[in-house]
Amino acid sequence: MNDLEKQLHYPLGETLAPLGGALVVAQGDGSGLTPAIKWVRMALPFALNHINLWLLRDEAETSDGAGAMVQGWSIVDCCIAHEKSKVAWESIFANELEGLPILRVIVTHMHPDHIGLAHWLCERWKVSLWISATDYQVARIGCLGPTGFGGERAAEFFSSHGLNSPEAVAQIQARTGYFPALVPSVPLQYRRMMDRQMIRIGGRDWRCIAGFGHAPEHIALYCKDLNVLIGGDMMLPRISTNVSVYEAEPEANALALFLDSIDRFRDLPEHTLVLPSHGKPFTGMHTRIEQLHQHHRDRLADVLQACTRQPCSAADILPVLFERAMDLHQTTFAMGESIAHLHALWFDGKLHRTLGADGIYRFTI
Ligand SMILES: [Zn+2]
Repeated sequence: MNDLEKQLHYPLGETLAPLGGALVVAQGDGSGLTPAIKWVRMALPFALNHINLWLLRDEAETSDGAGAMVQGWSIVDCCIAHEKSKVAWESIFANELEGLPILRVIVTHMHPDHIGLAHWLCERWKVSLWISATDYQVARIGCLGPTGFGGERAAEFFSSHGLNSPEAVAQIQARTGYFPALVPSVPLQYRRMMDRQMIRIGGRDWRCIAGFGHAPEHIALYCKDLNVLIGGDMMLPRISTNVSVYEAEPEANALALFLDSIDRFRDLPEHTLVLPSHGKPFTGMHTRIEQLHQHHRDRLADVLQACTRQPCSAADILPVLFERAMDLHQTTFAMGESIAHLHALWFDGKLHRTLGADGIYRFTI
């Protein structure tokens, strides 16, 4: 545990939901829907090696119009479309649903670890996908081919920001199937979630809170009754959320969007239990919001200082932002983050951007 984490509180201590299993994290009250939330944890084959998914005890009206209620569960987030994740889900279905069905699939945002199996889950249970309109559309397009993670235009974009290792550029060019490999399809229809919309889940109101800068239109879910925020990737306890600029929106100010978005959690009670997509459930969200602001303020100061010494491209900034060696997957994320930091200073008027004769953008005071 690092020093910053010690300022947060983990109510479950070191207890984790077993990989491929579930753990109750919130009990229901007198509504009879007990337990209310189960934490499901699944393995990921990346540097970030797991994802947290949630089962919310739910009910839905039967379609015959008689007003009777069907009992069941709603899923929040899905894992990537790998055979192992399907096997894990089948085991969850057999052991954790108390004989009840899945009633809907809610997805916080369109990244592969969150939406990958939505098509399979919705088909498996004949239920609807609930997601923001922006993330739904971007995921639909992502299934069709190259996205910000790879392909010719992504390689050109990163080259224009100084990534000049022929090997890395060639690998990014060749990586056209990254998104479809993890998200082969998404359901053909969806239910739209929007900022401030109230969704009734298990007899309780959940408020949608939109967030930007990490995904196009991420939706976190807050339930006052349960005192719980499903934070998705917008409120993580240990790692800082990836905030990147990609070639589809080359002049985005993603970091400013992200920092504004986390400020929207400030009006939630301090003792709110945050259920993050990676790491352990925690309280101390207001402290965490401050830590994230401080983290980015420090990084921005480092970047500004580097650009004061000499004009810097995003690639020049990588060693300033990241100390560790990175594989290609991480380098792509890191380049996106580096551009996001330079853009925050650029849009703030602290840096100027010039395009060199070599076709590379550099930032200078
Ligand atoms: Zn994400």
